[in-house]
Amino acid sequence: MSCFERSDNDMTPREPGVIPIELRNGARVKANDVPPQGVYRPNYNILTPNMRSPEYVQMSTAAALTLGIMQGKMHRCECTRCLNLLLTYPEGCRANCAYCGLARHREAERDYADRNFIRVDWPAVPLEQTIDIVARDGAQSPFHRMCISMITHPNSDADTVTVLKKWTARIDPKGIPVSILSNPTTMTRADVKRLHELGADIFTVALDAATPEIFDRTRGKGVQSPHSWTKYWEILLDARDIFGPQKFGAHVIVGMGETERDVLELVQKLVDLGGHSHLFCFFPEKGSLMDHLPATPRDQWRRVQLARYLIDYKAVRVECMKFDSQGKVVGFGLPESEVNDVVSAGTAFRTSGCPGKFAEDISACDRPYGDSPPSNIASYPFRPNGNDLRTIRSQLKTK
Ligand code: SF4
Repeated sequence: MSCFERSDNDMTPREPGVIPIELRNGARVKANDVPPQGVYRPNYNILTPNMRSPEYVQMSTAAALTLGIMQGKMHRCECTRCLNLLLTYPEGCRANCAYCGLARHREAERDYADRNFIRVDWPAVPLEQTIDIVARDGAQSPFHRMCISMITHPNSDADTVTVLKKWTARIDPKGIPVSILSNPTTMTRADVKRLHELGADIFTVALDAATPEIFDRTRGKGVQSPHSWTKYWEILLDARDIFGPQKFGAHVIVGMGETERDVLELVQKLVDLGGHSHLFCFFPEKGSLMDHLPATPRDQWRRVQLARYLIDYKAVRVECMKFDSQGKVVGFGLPESEVNDVVSAGTAFRTSGCPGKFAEDISACDRPYGDSPPSNIASYPFRPNGNDLRTIRSQLKTK
């Protein structure tokens, strides 16, 4: 079934349940108060230690493998180029976003440090140990960028500052630039300014929803979550003023009930403001309030990926693209041979995010299998090969 045969309402999240009082706010972890000992790998069969930023941060499994603190291999990837440091607290994120594995409603089911997020486990690691390894590796570090990922928590703003200061005291931010994945709900313009003054390079806002209605339904009042579209835009525009052109952006999840036109008009708006969009393909995250819903159909996703790349990097304007009555892209605003060349280059179908050291249009943040299983890749964390391009062309329904 194509996504355009389903209505917005078909992507409605489940209602969050009531959390027993004894399971709220990380009470179980705080009461047991097990002291952490080095790296903690998520395991909900044992008592979760009491870990808290800024002493502890969580990182993606891909980052832990690249850092060498976990052993294993990733399908078709040597390493990741972005070290995501996610703030962590026993109380967890206080928001309740419907598509997110970290959301507050999961308190009843699993301690915060044991929750899956963008399809993978996030081990918790002492910050000092992380910085020691990256500082020791110096210019040999595989990482092209570090990203501090905030969550909705009263300590998140202050701890982001502390992590940034501790990092830049040992690691030159010109060598490994720092991005901030912000949490606008708790932030002011002064917070944005402070992070810029302390050496952050790029500031991003996880808008996630392409329209105000979908925002409200998936991460606002619709799911008893504190976020507001207006506040997110306020901080995004502060970032535009303070960080400047090409140094700010927004995350957008494709396939939560918006039309292709909706998301591409947003992409154009961000480009017109001087920023970038980073796209995620909706995937029903296990344990989230949307885990019963279908992943974004691949034809829809590929069209949006391709059109977004043309707007972001090839100066094509959304007004030059053609859409059908249901908002689906039917013309990319370029002669077919030029569209074909962009498809063949493959970059449009790679993970989008803040740039690394290879090229402006190649993201350091490659998030291996963060929005799909390896058997049906949505965002390629590497350059697609010939077979991959054949798959992409068949999904795009071009030869
Ligand atoms: S604010 Fe971020 S981490 Fe928290 S529930 Fe929403 S998407 Fe997840």
